[in-house]
Amino acid sequence: MSAEEMLLSKELYKTSGWDMSERREEPSVMKVAETRLPTVRGEFRLAGYRSLVSMEEFVCLYQGEMRAAEPALVRIHAQCMTGDIFGSTKCDCGLQLQRTLDLISEVGRGALVYQLQEGRGIGIINKIRAYTLQEEGADTIEANERLGLAADLREYHQCAEILRDLGLGRVRAVTNNPEKIRALVAGGLNVIERVPLDIEPPTEAAFYLSTKKLRMGHLLELVS
Ligand SMILES: [Zn+2]
Repeated sequence: MSAEEMLLSKELYKTSGWDMSERREEPSVMKVAETRLPTVRGEFRLAGYRSLVSMEEFVCLYQGEMRAAEPALVRIHAQCMTGDIFGSTKCDCGLQLQRTLDLISEVGRGALVYQLQEGRGIGIINKIRAYTLQEEGADTIEANERLGLAADLREYHQCAEILRDLGLGRVRAVTNNPEKIRALVAGGLNVIERVPLDIEPPTEAAFYLSTKKLRMGHLLELVS
């Protein structure tokens, strides 16, 4: 970890607003299914979790032994149907997902929690409507506001809980999003490193990514 990143993680911890002692001890998620999943990147395990406090479901794709003491790559990935499945070039979600799975399979140990909350929690239909507004010049946040939706409805604490339930303790967080690092720390994980995702932005993603950086605090180096 570079000195700058060390400072950053200290700063994140300080500003997280969460006290470890305030962490809820009652489980809020439960593993309800698990299977092996052979993939193009080798064999993974796929676990299904249900929230005990909402209707939310999560899946966790992981590879290798999940041990608390050994650092593992982790990513909280929010579902993006257009990017993850259809290869949309309006965002970098699909590329981030692919890159994370590449990293995990290269190292042979890591876990990705896939949060089933399409379009930052607004749902696919509202996301399509928001894209229409963006065609007319609004940015991601303005578009959601005009639809009467909060800019970001996701919560990550249950994802951190899932990672702990798998047996993880020390983690290398694959993310550009400080909110996710805060959630991992608040969820009781020891974030020893942030692994940045430096991805060549897709053609139409430049405006979306600059919104992420300028208005949502993402840690991105943008090439203009
Ligand atoms: Zn996306």
